Amino acid sequence: MIRSANLGFPRIGAKRELKKALETYWKGENDATALAETAAGLRARHWRLQAEAGIDIIPSNDFSLYDQVLDMTAALGAAPSRFADMAHTPLDLYFAMARGAANAPAMEMTKWFDTNYHYIAPEFHKDQSFTGNPVKAVSEYLEAKAIGINTRPVLIGPVTYLSLGKAKDEGLDPLSLLPRLLPAYAAILNRLKEAGADAVQIDEPALCLDLSKSQQRAFMETYDAFKDIDVEIMLATYFEGLRDNLALAAELPVGGLHLDLVRAPEEIHSALDATGDDKILSLGLADGRGVWRTDLSAALAVIEHIKTKRAPETLHIAPSCSLLHVPADLNLEKSLDSDLKSWMAFAKQKLEGISALTAAANGGRSAAANAFAQSDAAHAARQRSARIHNPSVKARAEKLSARDIQRKNNFKTREALQKARFNLPPFPTTTIGSFPQTREVRQARAANRQGRLDQTGYDAFLKQETESAIRRQERLGLDVLVHGEFERNDMVEYFGEQLDGFAFTKNGWVQSYGSRCVKPPVIFGDVSRPKPMTVAWSTYAQSLTDRPVKGMLTGPVTILQWSFVRDDQPRAKTCRQIALAIRDEVADLEKAGIAMIQIDEPAFREGLPLRTADWDDYLQWAVDCFRLSASGAKDETQIHTHMCYSEFNDIMPSIAALDADVISIETSRSDMELLDAFVDFDYPNEIGPGVWDIHSPRVPSLQEMETLLHKAAEVIRPERLWVNPDCGLKTRGWTETEASIKHMIAAAKRLRKAHGSASRA
Ligand code: GLN
Ligand code: ZN
Repeated sequence: MIRSANLGFPRIGAKRELKKALETYWKGENDATALAETAAGLRARHWRLQAEAGIDIIPSNDFSLYDQVLDMTAALGAAPSRFADMAHTPLDLYFAMARGAANAPAMEMTKWFDTNYHYIAPEFHKDQSFTGNPVKAVSEYLEAKAIGINTRPVLIGPVTYLSLGKAKDEGLDPLSLLPRLLPAYAAILNRLKEAGADAVQIDEPALCLDLSKSQQRAFMETYDAFKDIDVEIMLATYFEGLRDNLALAAELPVGGLHLDLVRAPEEIHSALDATGDDKILSLGLADGRGVWRTDLSAALAVIEHIKTKRAPETLHIAPSCSLLHVPADLNLEKSLDSDLKSWMAFAKQKLEGISALTAAANGGRSAAANAFAQSDAAHAARQRSARIHNPSVKARAEKLSARDIQRKNNFKTREALQKARFNLPPFPTTTIGSFPQTREVRQARAANRQGRLDQTGYDAFLKQETESAIRRQERLGLDVLVHGEFERNDMVEYFGEQLDGFAFTKNGWVQSYGSRCVKPPVIFGDVSRPKPMTVAWSTYAQSLTDRPVKGMLTGPVTILQWSFVRDDQPRAKTCRQIALAIRDEVADLEKAGIAMIQIDEPAFREGLPLRTADWDDYLQWAVDCFRLSASGAKDETQIHTHMCYSEFNDIMPSIAALDADVISIETSRSDMELLDAFVDFDYPNEIGPGVWDIHSPRVPSLQEMETLLHKAAEVIRPERLWVNPDCGLKTRGWTETEASIKHMIAAAKRLRKAHGSASRA
C-alpha cells in the first residue's frame, strides 16, 4: 500500500494561540507551566487533526516554541558561551538565545532558504563541542504515543545544520566540526529508537543547494555514520530539485528520500532511474509553499506513472515541504468569497487532499470520488473564471517593448536635469519613508477598522500626523522629505488592498520568526489598478512644504515576493502585471506634481533562486519589472529605490541595472561591508549607503556616521553620495529618531566642509 505522510504542521495555532502564550510569558504575565500547557494542547490538537485527516505518517518534534534550528542548537548542547554562566532554566536559556538577555545579545536571525521564515543561526567556535540532548524529541514523541499516535520525529540534518551556522573564529570551516557533531546526533537517534520510534525524518534541504566537495563528503560521512542505527531515516529535501546532487542523495544509505515535486516535477523521472525498491520515495506533490488546492487528478496521473515502476509499499505521498509555510485552516475564513475559497487549501485541507490522493492511488478514483469531483470542478472553474482573467491586462503585458523598460535618456543627462531642478547641497540628507508608528497611530487605525472612528475623523488624524512629520523634518533640516506613511499598515498590504487580483485572509497567519506572524496577501488573478493609490497623500504632503517630498511606492518584485502568488502562470508574468500598475501610479504622481518617486524593493535580493544557475534568469526579469515600473518617468523626475535585509555585493551589477537615479541601501549593520563591492564595481548612479542602523533604539554619534561617510566617500564619488539611515523608521520612537537625524545632518555638514563645497543651507 502507498502511504500518506506529512513533513511538518504549522505550530503557531490557527488563532495564533502560541503567539499569545509566548508573549504573555515574556511579559511575565503567565508562568512556564501555562506556556507548556498551551504548547502541549496545540501539539495534541495538531496530531489529532492530522490523524483525522487520514494521514498515515505524522511528524513530531516539528513543534517549536521559537524556531526549529534553535531547537537543534539546544538539543546539541551548542548554546554560545555568552549564555553559559547565567542561572538559567533550559527555557530561559532557550529564549535568551532567541531574544537576547542582559549583556548577551541574541543570536543572529536569517531567512530560511528562500522562505520568509527566519531561523536562529547557530554559532560555531574552534573549540566547539556538542552533546546530544534528546529530551524534547523523545518527550514529544512519547506525548503523541500517549494519545495513540505513533509519530515520525523530525530533526534537522547535520550537514544542513552546520551549513546554516556562522563560524565565529577566523579560519573555521563549520563542516570540520562534523566528527564532533555526529555522536551527538547518534545519541538522539538512539534514544528515539529506545522510545519506540522506528522512523525519523531528517531534513536536509541543503541537498538542494550548490554543494562544495566538502559538503558532498560530509553527506556521505554523516549517513554512513548513521547506517547502523536501527531507525529508518527519511531524508527530506525540499525547496528545489536535487539536480546534480541526485546521484549523491540516491547513494546515501538511508531508508527513504523525499522529493519536492512541486518545485521540480520533472525530477521524478531521474529519481526513479537513480533509486531502487530498497528506498522509499516520498513524493512531495502538494504545494507546501502556496495556498492553492492540489489538482488531485493531475497528481494521480503522476502517481499512476510512478506505480508502473515502483512497488506501492516503497511510495509515500506528502506535501512538498513542511506545512509551516502555509496557514492552518481555510475553514476559519468566513469572509473569503466562495469561488476563491474553493480554489484554495491551507494546511488542514492540503492534508485532506493528500489523504484522498493516497486513497485513490491505492484503490482508484472511486475510493475518493467526492474529493476528486470537487478538485476537478474547482480547477475547471478557476481556469475559466473571469475573475482571474482580464484580457486587457494580459494584452497590455504582452505587447511591451524594449522602449518600455528604458528611461528617455541616460543617467548623465537625467542627472544634469535633476541637479538643476532640485539644487540640492552635496551629500543630500533624506530618510527611507516611514516615521514612527506611535501608539496613537496604531490606535487610530484600529479604531477606524473597528468602526469607532469614522473615515473623516481618521483622515483628519492622518493629515495632522503627516503635517507634523513634515514640520519636524523641516525643523531638523532634512533636504528631501517623506510623508511618513502613517496611513499604511504594511507596505505590501496597503497596495494589495487597492489592486484588483488580490485577496486578503482574516486568519491566514504564517510564522515569520518567534511569535511574529505575517498574513501575506493572495494574488489570485490578473493584477490591475482601478484608481490612483497614493496620489492624495503625496500631494497633500507636498502642498505643505517647498522642499521635495518623495512619493513612496512598493516595487513589483517586493509585492510579489511577500504575497502568496498564483500558480497558474510564471511568477515573472505576474510580476510584470504588478509593474504596470506601479508604472501607472508613477505617471499619476508625476502628473500631480511629485518630482521624486521612491520605489522600494527590500525583497529584491531574497527572490534570488537557491541555485546560482537560475540567478541570471531571475535577475533578468526582476530588473526588467522594476524598470518597467519606473521608466515611464520623465528625465527630470528623480526615481529613488531602497533595499535592505541582505547582502548585495554579489548582485551589484543587477542593482545598477535597475537604473534608479538614487538608491538607499542598508549597510551599517555590517559596518559598510557593502563598500567592498565598490572597489571593483563603479556604481554608475547616486547612492546612499545607510549610516545608521534603525533596528535598534541606539542613537549613533555624529562621529560614527561621519566615519562611515568618509569610508563611503573613498570608494564612491562624493558627488553621488546621499546621507540616509538604513531603513524606514516605523518601529522607532520619535525621541531617538530626532536625535539620530540631528547627528546625521551634522555629519553630512562636516562632509560638505571636508569636501570643500558650499552647502545650500
Ligand atoms: N518605505 C518603507 C519604509 O520606510 C521601506 C520599508 C522597507 O524597506 N522594509 O518603511
Ligand atoms: Zn528597508
